Amino acid sequence: MIEVTLLGTGSPIPDPRRAGPSTLVRAGGQAFLVDCGRGVQQRMAAAGIGANGLTALLLTHLHSDHIADLGDLLITRWVTTFTEQVPLPVIGPPGTAEVVEATLTAFGHDIGYRIAHHADLTAPPPVEVREVTDGPVWDHDAVQIRVAPTDHRPVAPTIGFRIEHDGASVVLAGDTVPCESLDALAAGAGALVHTVIRKDLVELMPQQRFRDICDYHSSVEQAAATAERARVGILVLTHYVPGIAPGQEEDWRARAAAVFPRQVELGDDLHRVEVHPGVCVRPGG
Ligand SMILES: [Zn+2]
Ligand SMILES: [Zn+2]
Repeated sequence: MIEVTLLGTGSPIPDPRRAGPSTLVRAGGQAFLVDCGRGVQQRMAAAGIGANGLTALLLTHLHSDHIADLGDLLITRWVTTFTEQVPLPVIGPPGTAEVVEATLTAFGHDIGYRIAHHADLTAPPPVEVREVTDGPVWDHDAVQIRVAPTDHRPVAPTIGFRIEHDGASVVLAGDTVPCESLDALAAGAGALVHTVIRKDLVELMPQQRFRDICDYHSSVEQAAATAERARVGILVLTHYVPGIAPGQEEDWRARAAAVFPRQVELGDDLHRVEVHPGVCVRPGG
């Protein structure tokens, strides 16, 4: 079984009820954080995991809302690890190494204070960055991960992840418009976690800067169509733009359900979905 927890279902606009985009995937005793938006560690604490409990950090792209708390995550993992400091694998698109290095530089004073003060902290937070665009990236203890390009242009390159464990599979699309490489990555998966925006609402906004974001995101209906083409078992929606107004959750769900006739999941931060082996589409189902 793979367990998906929506840690942060918000967007770049601060929302008192929603943290920034982040998803926790637990599989085979391993814990993967996919993107690390604003407030992610509060949600991780609520989900029962600390930064020192993460197996790896997976980044779909380098937009600020998806990496906002990277520094906090790296520092907190470092100062709360009391055994050997094991490097945190960070797997992301080209540019990730530069972002991680610059983040550690930004926290350089803090890192210096702590190394000077604590005898058992002798080196900066260890991180092992791997920049990828396509293909297998992880195969440890019965968990396999592969990536494929997505289409979030002009933000490029961007990637989606497919995590497999013991017959169960989950695909995390990140921010993207529909594209063939995502269809292929998601084909037959147990669940597809997809970020969405309500283009019908955003297109009505007076500010061109908000309307611009329709260019490179999937609407609820487009995400549902991707899930249907890929014949996934469960569609999990997250990263709600412009936010789900009170009482509107069923409207969002209905828009997906009109296109994707199987299980649709959405909800508040900490919404949890179990993906079991063999969750797949029955012929004609
Ligand atoms: Zn983005
Ligand atoms: Zn985003």
